[in-house]
Amino acid sequence: MKILVINCGSSSLKFQLIDSVHGQVLAKGLCERIGIEGSRLVYRREGAKEQTVKAPMTEHKTAVKMVLDALTAPGTGVIRELSEIDAVGHRIVHGGEKFAASVLIDNGVLSAIEECASLAPLHNPANLTGIRACMELMPETPMAAVFDTAFHQTMPMEAYLYGIPYAYYEKYRVRRYGFHGTSHKYVSRQAAKVLGERPEKLRLIVCHLGNGASVSAVQYGKSVDTSMGLTPLEGLIMGTRAGDMDPAIVEFIAHKEGKTLDEIMEILNRQSGVLGLSGGLSSDFRDLEDAFQAGQPEGERALKAFAYRVAKYIGAYTAAMNGVDGICFTAGLGENSPLIRRKICAYLGYLGVSLDEEQNRKRGEDLIISAPGCGVKVLVIPTNEELAIAEETCALVQA
Ligand code: AMP
Repeated sequence: MKILVINCGSSSLKFQLIDSVHGQVLAKGLCERIGIEGSRLVYRREGAKEQTVKAPMTEHKTAVKMVLDALTAPGTGVIRELSEIDAVGHRIVHGGEKFAASVLIDNGVLSAIEECASLAPLHNPANLTGIRACMELMPETPMAAVFDTAFHQTMPMEAYLYGIPYAYYEKYRVRRYGFHGTSHKYVSRQAAKVLGERPEKLRLIVCHLGNGASVSAVQYGKSVDTSMGLTPLEGLIMGTRAGDMDPAIVEFIAHKEGKTLDEIMEILNRQSGVLGLSGGLSSDFRDLEDAFQAGQPEGERALKAFAYRVAKYIGAYTAAMNGVDGICFTAGLGENSPLIRRKICAYLGYLGVSLDEEQNRKRGEDLIISAPGCGVKVLVIPTNEELAIAEETCALVQA
């Protein structure tokens, strides 16, 4: 089946056309600056050079139309007509408590996604715009919604409740939701395959370490806890996000610096994390690793604090599951940085973990990087959220 995967942001739209049977990307790209001057489409057909087309895109519908035109263009396209697209899979950030799995989109689903918008005001409205644009241009094509939050809906109450007045949960559904669910699910399933076990037999900790980063505890195939919360700000120290901290810091800094709540939230989301810790050096771990190797204290400070926080979560989730069988690293940093994996695993001696350094230096494939004989396996599993969305969409359409 040919599945178009759409990930729509407020001013951008990423897409991939995937042959879900062979797991092959036929074409991919993104539209940038939608609704802003200077909008453009970047398009790449598998095996061909990237093309950039500058054209005004006043709204998402124009962007979707450009993507569909590019996919069907004689010579550079990958399909002859739109009817060759069997279904569209939309990445939706927040499904609240309404969605514990992916669903085919109908009017009821659209309203429910709209109702979750107050939980993700920057993301859900943009996601909806993308769905509506596709529905207008491909009215006969089935569409699926795949939620970042859905996989974590199996968390027990003690993991998702915050220690604040229960009325806020009852009135506003303030609770832990977690994100990156498509990745945590995909990676935990893939890790089980690599370990030659069924997911239902394993307790896994998945460390999705990218610019946004989260850890999850996946017990016998189900997410039982995860580090991101009501929003993707909680948990690990990230590229620019603060992660866990004393909530009283918000008031303290606001008073000291004369800042509004909005300004503080902007700082916690965009100027904190390793960017903030490194004194503004970089949010990109490659730069921080270079700084660390060059002996710059900013790099060391950021990497140490980052690795320590991940290790603390691994300890917490080992306790939550009464043990752990495998620890998986994924996403930009988790897949590509032997250094950060080494720094994190240095805390795991109590689990009997030691690394096979030769394996740890490899990249680009599913790997077991713990030394032979370790009871707790450490794995690197490249994530593929688009393929996971395509597979889920395909399964829904076939059902
Ligand atoms: P993601 O959000 O999953 O795309 O991950 C992006 C982050 O991965 C970047 O900010 C980099 O910090 C990190 N990253 C990617 N490649 C490497 C690498 N070779 N070494 C260290 N960090 C990397």
